Amino acid sequence: MNIHESEKIAGILEDMGYSQTEDETAADIIVFNTCCIRDNAEKRALGNIGAVKHLKKSKPELIIAVVGCMTQQDGAGLKLREKYPYVDIVLGTNNLFELENCIVSLKNTRKKSVLIDPNENPQVRENERVYRTSGCNAWLNIMYGCNNFCTYCIVPYVRGRERSRKMSDVLDEFKRLVDEGYKEITLLGQNVNSYGHDLQDGSDFAGLLQEISKINGKHRVRFMTSHPKDFNTDVIDIIAQSPNICNNIHLPIQSGSDKILKLMNRHYTRDFYLKTIEAIKSKIPDCGITTDLMVGFPYEDEDDFEDTLDIVRRVRYSSAFTFIYSIRKGTKAALMPQVPPEVSKERITRLIAEQNRVTKELSRDYEGKVYEVLCEDRAPKKDGFVCGRTDSGRMVTFEGADSLIGKFVDVKIEKSQSASLYGTLTEER
Ligand code: SF4
Repeated sequence: MNIHESEKIAGILEDMGYSQTEDETAADIIVFNTCCIRDNAEKRALGNIGAVKHLKKSKPELIIAVVGCMTQQDGAGLKLREKYPYVDIVLGTNNLFELENCIVSLKNTRKKSVLIDPNENPQVRENERVYRTSGCNAWLNIMYGCNNFCTYCIVPYVRGRERSRKMSDVLDEFKRLVDEGYKEITLLGQNVNSYGHDLQDGSDFAGLLQEISKINGKHRVRFMTSHPKDFNTDVIDIIAQSPNICNNIHLPIQSGSDKILKLMNRHYTRDFYLKTIEAIKSKIPDCGITTDLMVGFPYEDEDDFEDTLDIVRRVRYSSAFTFIYSIRKGTKAALMPQVPPEVSKERITRLIAEQNRVTKELSRDYEGKVYEVLCEDRAPKKDGFVCGRTDSGRMVTFEGADSLIGKFVDVKIEKSQSASLYGTLTEER
């Protein structure tokens, strides 16, 4: 979501005649697109804002803007301006489109801006200019905001309530992206499964996927993120039937303990979740299933943590994003008794070890088989090698020329190393 938002910021700047530079000393404007989902992300953003003070000193005409969800927190915009007075523009998540006006006004009048719209239901904006930076992959917002209020999460407070884009607008953008040659399109939303609930025209996520699956062309569709409570069998059926929709589902469980899931306000039980996984596996046997797992949530004891390990063993995720719970001011969980950090650290180490073991075993199943891979980029630090993902979402590295990037190829997997797969090209299309 943040990468795509940065692409929109870059789109506004490109329209104004700016171009991208990797050299911050050459920049005329620096925009920090912040995230406040975890304390770490926020601290890093603040550290990075602090680090450009000297640039502003030596180049006073440099424009510094801070945008994104960190600024949308209660009173954060003004506090930012107080602590970092050299920041020229602060925009909340609902005000991003005002960046151009703020820059023009700053240039003409030297007037600094702090614009944070607290509206929980801002209008969905269409026809935003996007400067895409992800090669043959494109991100496509289908909705914004979240209604779920998980007790650890700040997102509903900083991104407002769920607002879906009209299906016709989503389909138009999707077709444009296919026409422009993008090979993989990822549908984005905080909870894509509740797409359309606010539109009151009968649209829903399964219906959207169905329409998208009818769009001709050789391309892939992924989506993120799904909420287990809203993930229904209609969606599973459409994925199973549609060759273009990847057999790859990210279904964040967070915890394997019913007690903790209740405290998190997640509205599903481990049993409900496991039944959904069973349905996915029975209809899409080769589906790559990934998840988010959190340890150290308030009140989590050893039995709760064991339940999470048990989920990892039962579901056999191809990979998992693992986190230590991070206190977010203003959320309900911030007021609950906290688990000591050393306990959380010990648990995350065990959790990662368990997930790595499963990933390694699953990786071995790929060896000796041929998979269609969308070649996405040069392999990092490996001259003459490229990489891309299987339909199930596994990253594969293989020897090949840059000319393969953006193409579908067949690759035989020769060996695996933990989550990484290595293969040889068998067919170019
Ligand atoms: S579903 Fe829960 S975790 Fe996800 S964005 Fe909404 S409140 Fe946050």
